[in-house]
Amino acid sequence: MLRISQYLREVAQAERDGVYPQSRRGGGNSGPVVIWNLTRRCNLTCKHCYALSADHDYPGELSFAEVETVMQDLRAYGVPVLILSGGEPLLRADLFDIAARAQTLGFYTALSTNGTLIDAAMAARIAAQQFDYVGISIDGTRDTHDKFRRLPGAYDASLQAIRLLHAQGVKTGLRYTFTDLNGQDFPALLRLMKDEAVDKFYFSHLNYAGRGNIHRGRDAHFEATRQALDLLFETAWQDALAGSSRDYVTGNNDADAAYLLRWVGERLPQWVAPLRQRLVAWGGNASGVGVANIDNLGVVHPDTMWWHYPLGSVRERPFSQIWSDRSDPLMDGLKTRPRPVQGRCAECQYFALCGGNTRVRAQQITGDLWAEDPGCYLDDAEIGLSAEAAERLSARVPLRPFSHRASSIPIRTEV
Ligand code: SF4
Repeated sequence: MLRISQYLREVAQAERDGVYPQSRRGGGNSGPVVIWNLTRRCNLTCKHCYALSADHDYPGELSFAEVETVMQDLRAYGVPVLILSGGEPLLRADLFDIAARAQTLGFYTALSTNGTLIDAAMAARIAAQQFDYVGISIDGTRDTHDKFRRLPGAYDASLQAIRLLHAQGVKTGLRYTFTDLNGQDFPALLRLMKDEAVDKFYFSHLNYAGRGNIHRGRDAHFEATRQALDLLFETAWQDALAGSSRDYVTGNNDADAAYLLRWVGERLPQWVAPLRQRLVAWGGNASGVGVANIDNLGVVHPDTMWWHYPLGSVRERPFSQIWSDRSDPLMDGLKTRPRPVQGRCAECQYFALCGGNTRVRAQQITGDLWAEDPGCYLDDAEIGLSAEAAERLSARVPLRPFSHRASSIPIRTEV
């Protein structure tokens, strides 16, 4: 996740003070942020769902006792944050017991929900539980969102959830996945964020996992992506200048760090060098390093987009052992610095701050874990490829739509 607001606030402060601020990030090693799909069951069947969730029980999901054991291991391993997700996590009867235990153990505890099950009573319960943050998915204005979510009335229910949570003082975020089906609604959603006093806007690019892979032919075109990011950066910049606490973050396309650096460079070139240093320290794609996933069956993955790639089960080995084990070739590559990414990424001037972007897209399109990310929207000149390199590397990897005839990688539905 790229914290656009954080970096633009630093640039705004540099403009005010005439000197770039010191980094406020603490040193020391900590475990990854863990996104935990506590259940795969969901009342919706969204078009881009990486979990291919549906509204039925999935046998073999972790029990409360198993979840508790895993949490103790995670805490001892230094995991600072748990994001409780699904499916729809509110369909899990013991969700609040799990959250309470997580909080007792000292985790920053967030909830990721589609919001449709949050009425006044549920909002009060969530507030009483004191979740640190609640992210609610909104993928467009009313008609678009309902089509995306495949449920008439979903938009109104999710918006109502945001209002109810806001009234209860819960920190909320709006989660939006940008595709060519809903890109036209992005400006309206930014306005909605302000109108509804939402604390955070999470702009996700489409990643090619689950239904997001099946629908990858509807991924946004590069030019549309760039225009959307221009608007996002400008909005976040104006907020930073005004001292607003609204947060804007992006995910699933680490080329955003390069694009942000270029955006600042075109406007305030004097701050490019310190911003670049800050972005290099951030390091780009965090799969397998700074972010981890545990699915509903207890299987560990490098992040939520890797459900087709199991690393091991917490029923058989503690998470801490699975996560530290570099015998797996994907995990070894993800933890290697620099990563063994090939193609144009290896010669890109932004490799140190992007990390070669998302390996899932590379694998789904080419079959090669370490090929260039075909979702990079920067052209050869922008990434600093010489004419010789551009010719040697030949054409970009095309973004082929999903085909059921081509080999596809299933994800497990039960133990
Ligand atoms: S070419 Fe690769 S390393 Fe460079 S910005 Fe694009 S995805 Fe990142």
